[in-house]
Amino acid sequence: MEELIWVAGHRGMVGSAITRLLESQGRKVITVDRSVLDLRRQPEVEFWLRANQPTAIIFAAAKVGGILANSTYPADFIYDNLTIQTNIIHGAHKAGVDRLVFLGSSCIYPKLAPQPISETALMTGPLEPTNQWYAIAKIAGIMSCQAYRQQHGRRYISVMPCNLYGPNDNFDLETSHVIPALMRKFHRAKREGASEVVVWGTGTPLREFLHVDDLARGVVFCLDNYDEYEHINCGAGFDVTIREIAETIAGVASFKGALTFDTTKPDGTPRKIMDSSRIRALGWKPEISLEEGLKSAYGWYLENVAQAPR
Ligand code: GDP
Repeated sequence: MEELIWVAGHRGMVGSAITRLLESQGRKVITVDRSVLDLRRQPEVEFWLRANQPTAIIFAAAKVGGILANSTYPADFIYDNLTIQTNIIHGAHKAGVDRLVFLGSSCIYPKLAPQPISETALMTGPLEPTNQWYAIAKIAGIMSCQAYRQQHGRRYISVMPCNLYGPNDNFDLETSHVIPALMRKFHRAKREGASEVVVWGTGTPLREFLHVDDLARGVVFCLDNYDEYEHINCGAGFDVTIREIAETIAGVASFKGALTFDTTKPDGTPRKIMDSSRIRALGWKPEISLEEGLKSAYGWYLENVAQAPR
């Protein structure tokens, strides 16, 4: 059977990176626009899957957002994610699609999990409250893949990325993650000649950041080489404080002013570096350094967002 990979969520940062990579490898990809197929509508998803018959699905469709968006819109985060993944996973099985790669997030792990966090830490303690709605949906997604594997022999797997950044990220200050938010804030401060930029929280939390192109290689690597019941971590292998990432982005954006910390904003989990030794032992490793990745992501932002008409 000729390979046909459906990248669900191809317009997002992760889905677009995976689509770019697969196409550069000459592989056949199918996508469908949101205006044509609403992934929250079960009969429509099932119909589309039967009509198009992909041989594999990469699940990069999700309602995602930063710390504030997650705690402000808990209903949207739990409803959209549970519905979309249930429709696609069940629909895939019904349509006879035997291969699926589900994507989650390091926020599935307990808030105070031992660091670095190995795959076995799942469900060993309470979640970080700011993103627990999203995390619970993602945990249900991992278990759905396991359930269809156990009951129906489907080769559905789950990959857990750390915090990601890169082209096609969300640069909206209210809903974005920290890297795109700071790129935008530093750019604006420089343009307006402002002397300081506000960073949320205390600056002390640690985060593990991976360029989305490295993640895309990890996901496609798993599509081709990983077929286990257990989910697998895919992270950079080191973490930095929010203060450090802010200072690095300030350097990339040539902002020379001061950083101030708004401690009325949440810090979230203190640390969530993953143990990615399993995927590394299989043969994947990151190739883009943080400095290099931030420079190219900032360049993308300048060309595609900062200068775009609003
Ligand atoms: P998280 O990993 O789920 O907490 O996702 P975020 O990327 O939204 O936040 C990571 C950390 O960066 C948190 O400690 C935030 O408080 C901090 N942070 C600092 N400034 C900002 C900002 O402007 N936007 C966001 N989203 N986070 C920020």
